[in-house]
This record gives sequence, C-alpha cells and structure tokens, in this order.
Amino acid sequence: MLRLVDFSETSLVVTLLTRDLGRISALAKGARRLKGPFEGSLDLLSVCRVTLIAKPGDTLDLLTESKLRRRFRGGERSLSRTYAGYYIAETLRWWLDDAERHEAVFDLTLSALALIDGNGPIPETLLAFDCQCLRLLGHAPTTEVCCVCGQKMGHKLASQTGHIAFSVEGGGVVCANCRPRQTSLALLSKPAVGALQELVQPLGNSADSQPTSGAGEQRYDFPLSSLLPRVPETSYPELRGLISRYMQTLLGRSLRMQPYLPTTMR
Ligand SMILES: [Zn+2]
Repeated sequence: MLRLVDFSETSLVVTLLTRDLGRISALAKGARRLKGPFEGSLDLLSVCRVTLIAKPGDTLDLLTESKLRRRFRGGERSLSRTYAGYYIAETLRWWLDDAERHEAVFDLTLSALALIDGNGPIPETLLAFDCQCLRLLGHAPTTEVCCVCGQKMGHKLASQTGHIAFSVEGGGVVCANCRPRQTSLALLSKPAVGALQELVQPLGNSADSQPTSGAGEQRYDFPLSSLLPRVPETSYPELRGLISRYMQTLLGRSLRMQPYLPTTMR
C-alpha cells in the first residue's frame, strides 16, 4: 500500500504496488467503516494479498478483498524508521507508471521494508534501495565510461585533485576531455565512484529475485542486504547527496521526504 486517500464517507482510494500488475489505484468500498470488509489490512506500507476487479477505461479498479500479510511497524519503533518507510512509498509513487509490471522492483521494495522494519541500518538500506531502483528502471548511473563520449575512463578518471566529475544531467561520470563543456557537474571522490559502481550492479546470478520455497506459496528474495556492507561510511554523504540530486533531475521535482534522509551513517 503506497497511499490511501479518503474518497467518500465510507470508501478509500488506495494506490498499490503489486507484483503482477505494477502500480495501480483502486477503490476500496466500505474501507472506512469500523467493521469494513478489509479487516484493517489497508494501511500505509502494509503487505497484503488482494483481489481486484478490473474496470474498463478511466474507471477505478475495485478492490474486493485484502488479507494482511505484514503490517509496517517502523512507526512504533522510531521516527527515523517511519520516515524511511514514507520515503520508499513516495519514491515508488513517482518512479512507477500505472500498470507497468515491475516484479523485481516489487521484490526489492519488500526487502527494503523488511530491513527498515527490522534492525537494518537506515542510511545504507535507502541508498542501496535507490541505486537498485535506478538500475531496474534503466537509469543506473554510468561509472566506467564517460557518459558524454563513451570512452572508457580507466586511469583518466581522476582530475589532478583526485576527484571525478559526474554529470547529473548526463547520468554518469565525465572524462577530462568532455568536462569543460559540461554543466551541472558534481565532483566525487574515487572511493565514492567505486562504491557507486558496486551499488548499481545486478545482484544474484541470473535473476535478481530468487524464488524460495515458503509455506504454501512461492516467495521471492531480493538480496538487498548483501549490498549494505558496500556503502563506505566516509563516502556516504557525497553519495547520498549525488543520488538525491540525480533523482530530482530525472523526476523533475524534489521529493517531500528527501530532507528527512539521514545525512551520515552514524
Ligand atoms: Zn568524454
């Protein structure tokens, strides 16, 4: 559940991220009644098994059934875990278009929420989530070749000060030759570029989400936690700043929850 908006005295419009259908909005009739048909399962970031009736044209789909699988409890633990959850819900609402299927993004989201709702470290989890989301949606920043001329960077990566230029609009590192003609450049340290390169790599062998046998039904694991140790504490602030700026450029807007992101790993 990414968003719940009151529709009438008794009904809600819910925005859902589904594994099979991507992001969808649906009308949940009776959801605001005390003893509604959804048994309290409709809650921000709760994971549910739902039944939908598709409606033609512009009419909202109808949510007819929802069984709670897991409730997001970050809010009962700390404000930072609540904000981290809100951040994920907000980014997904902006990243995804309606009814575009993104199974791996769904699995990635469940992994990130499990970490935030558990004892996972928030700064690393959100940064790794953003980087993998960018990759899965085809926006992975390039780190090995110049994003302007396509030349392999290699030893030419660093300028004399040891920093590497990154074009926020071009979505990647920029070589020394192309650098003077670029605007909107950020400067990154070498360790930060190295960490970024690892954070946007595909995970796992063939597919990102590995099916695991759960009780009664197929479940999928996105190995997000394997990426968390790759975030170096010293490079975190510059990487966080860069990814936020890059996302703002891609989305054409700043996100409401971005100012609440952790600025350091401590
Ligand atoms: Zn170049």
